[in-house]
Amino acid sequence: MIAAASLFEQARPPVPPAPFLPMSLAEMDRLGWEACDVVLVTGDAYIDHPSFGMAIVGRLLEAHGFKVGIIAQPDWSGPEAFTVLGRPRLFFGITAGNMDSMVNRYTSDKKLRHDDAYTPGGEGGKRPDRAAIVYAQRAREAFKDVPIVLGGIEASLRRIAHYDYWSDKVRRSILMDAKADILLFGNAERALVEVAHRAGAGQTIRSMTDIRGTAQVVNAPPKAFRVADWTDMDGASPDLAGGKVAVRLPSYEQVAADPALYAHTSRVLHLESNASNARALVQAHGDKDVWLNPPPVPLTSAELDAVYELPFARAPHPSYGDSRIPAWEMIRFSVSIMRGCFGGCAFCSITEHEGRVIQSRSEGSVLREIERVRDLTKGFTGTISDIGGPTANMYRLACKDDGIQAMCRRLSCVYPDICKNLGTDHGPLIALYRKARAIKGVKRVLVASGLRYDLAVRSPDYVRELVAHHVGGYLKIAPEHTEAGPLSKMMKPGIAAYERFKELFDQAAQAAGKKYYLIPYFIAAHPGTSDRDMMNLALWLKRNGFKADQVQTFLPSPMSLATAMYHSGRNPLKPVRHSGSEEVEAIKGLRQRRLHKAFLRYHDPENWPILRDALKAMGRADLIGPGAHQLVPGGTAAPAAKAGPSRPFRTQHTRSRPLQRR
Ligand code: SF4
Repeated sequence: MIAAASLFEQARPPVPPAPFLPMSLAEMDRLGWEACDVVLVTGDAYIDHPSFGMAIVGRLLEAHGFKVGIIAQPDWSGPEAFTVLGRPRLFFGITAGNMDSMVNRYTSDKKLRHDDAYTPGGEGGKRPDRAAIVYAQRAREAFKDVPIVLGGIEASLRRIAHYDYWSDKVRRSILMDAKADILLFGNAERALVEVAHRAGAGQTIRSMTDIRGTAQVVNAPPKAFRVADWTDMDGASPDLAGGKVAVRLPSYEQVAADPALYAHTSRVLHLESNASNARALVQAHGDKDVWLNPPPVPLTSAELDAVYELPFARAPHPSYGDSRIPAWEMIRFSVSIMRGCFGGCAFCSITEHEGRVIQSRSEGSVLREIERVRDLTKGFTGTISDIGGPTANMYRLACKDDGIQAMCRRLSCVYPDICKNLGTDHGPLIALYRKARAIKGVKRVLVASGLRYDLAVRSPDYVRELVAHHVGGYLKIAPEHTEAGPLSKMMKPGIAAYERFKELFDQAAQAAGKKYYLIPYFIAAHPGTSDRDMMNLALWLKRNGFKADQVQTFLPSPMSLATAMYHSGRNPLKPVRHSGSEEVEAIKGLRQRRLHKAFLRYHDPENWPILRDALKAMGRADLIGPGAHQLVPGGTAAPAAKAGPSRPFRTQHTRSRPLQRR
C-alpha cells in the first residue's frame, strides 16, 4: 500500500474537548469561542457517535485544534439558518447526511417516503431534495466569500457526470451545480485534515489541486500530469504507462448524449479505483474540467482506532430532548469493526465510496468501545446489537501479497470466484467474538450486519461460532437471486454457495441445539433479469417454503455499475464498444418492474392476475393451478396448499447501522 502521512501527525486536541460540538452561539460562548473555524452543515440530526459522518469529521477536526460548529437540518428556504453560528473562519463543510437525499426521500418506485430515520421523531421532509446543492447555495448566500467544501455520500457518488434515476437523465458533476470549491470523496479523513491545515495556513482552497480523494472544477488539468485521452471507446486503449498520468474521460456532454459512452466511462472509473494504482481522472463540462485526484489512501488500524476513540458524547445533541431518532435507536448498542468491501456487488456503492481494501480496527479498540457502550449508553441491558461493518465477516481479510494488491485492477476479490490471493482466515474474527462476549456485563453479542456466505463456508469453525453464539433466531444473508444471468450482472456467487452455507448453518444450529433460520434477500428487476429468471426464483422460493413480506426492487443509485447497465443497456463489467459489446436487459417500465416484484410475492392474491397473464404469455400456463408445484392458483381459486412449512422473510436491505459518511 502506498504511504501517507499519519492522520494525527499535526493533531493538537483541546483539553477538555467540547461536550458536544456547538449548535448555537450560546454553546460557543460557553466554550469561550468568538468564531468557528469550520461550520459543518448536515441533512441529518447531529448525533455525536462514530456511526455518523459529521460527528467523525467534526471530532477529527477538533482533535486537530480547529473550532467546529454544526448546523443540522437547517431551514433551507433562505440563508438565515446558515448564519446562526456566525461566519466560519476557514470554510463551510457541507453534506446531505449519511444517505443520498434522493435515496432517503423516494422509494425505488419514485414514491415519496414520509419518514426519515435520521430526523427526530422519524419525520420526513426535514431536508431538501439534492440537499448538498441546496445547502451549498444557501451557505454561499449567507457568506459569499466563505469557501464551500462538499463531502458525504451524495457528493462522493455524484462527483462526475452521473445518471440520476429520479430525473431520468445524466446530470453534471455535483461540483458544477453546487459551485463548491472542493469535493472530498470516499472516506475523507486524510483529505479533510489536509484541506483544513492548508486553509488555516492561508492557502486558498481552489488552489489545492493535489490532494488525494478530492475533486475540483479547474480550467485545465495540473501541468505536472500527462493526460491520456480515453474518450474514444471504439479505438485502441490509450498509453497509460508511466507516473503522473491522468485519464481523460468522455465529457459530460458526450456521456449525456450517448449511453454507451456512459457505460464505457463507468467502466474506466471503476478500473481506476484501487488507491494503490488509480490514476487521476478528468472530465470536461463545457469549457471547464472536473479534476479528480486518485482515491484516498486507506487508514491504518492505528489510525482507524484513533478515529473511533475520539471523544464522542455517544448521544444525540441535547437540544433534541427526548425525541426518538430511529437511526440512533438502531445503532446505539452496535460497534463497527471495519470499513471497506472487496465484494464489488454491481448494485451497491460501498466499494465505490469506502474502497476495496478492508480497514480493520484492532481487537483492543473494539473491546474498549464495547466497554464504553456498556458504561455510557443509556438503556444498555447487556446485548451488543451488532458487531460488524459493511460486511460482517471481512474483518482482517486482505490480499496475501501487497505487491500483487498494488497492481490489481479486478473489480472484486470474490467474483467470479474467490481470488487465490485473498486471505480468508476467519481466525482473528472468531478470537474477537470470543473476547467480546467475555466482557463483564455483556450478555450477548449479535451479528446483524450482512454476511458474505461464500467466504464464510471457507471457515466451518466460523459458521459454528457464529451460530452457537451470535445469531438471534434469524440470520440475514443476501443471495440476491437464484439464476445465473442476473447473478453474473450483480457480481454475486451462484446459489450453490448459498446452499452450501445453509447446510453448514443448519448443522451448526442442530449441534448447538437451536432452532434458527436463514433469511435470504432477493432483488427484483435488477438489470440482466428476465421474466423467466424471476419465475424460476419464485419457484425456488415456493419449493423452499419462503414467503416474502417485503421485497426490494432494484434502485439505480448514482455511480454504481448496475446503474450504468440500467441506463445504457450495456455491460460495463466488460469492455464497451458501440458495436459488439454485451447488451443487458434493463427493467425500466413500471409494468415489468411490478411483475418482477410480483414474482417475489407469488403468494399474495393481489399479484395473481398479473402473474397468471405473465405465465400464459411465457408459455408456462402449466404453473397455474392448485398443485404444490404450481405457482399461482387458477381462476379465482383459493391459494394453493403450502408446499411445506413456510416462513415470512424480507428482501429489503435494511442496514444494521447507518453507513458512514453517506
Ligand atoms: S489479487 Fe485477488 S485478492 Fe489481491 S486485490 Fe486482486 S482480486 Fe483481491
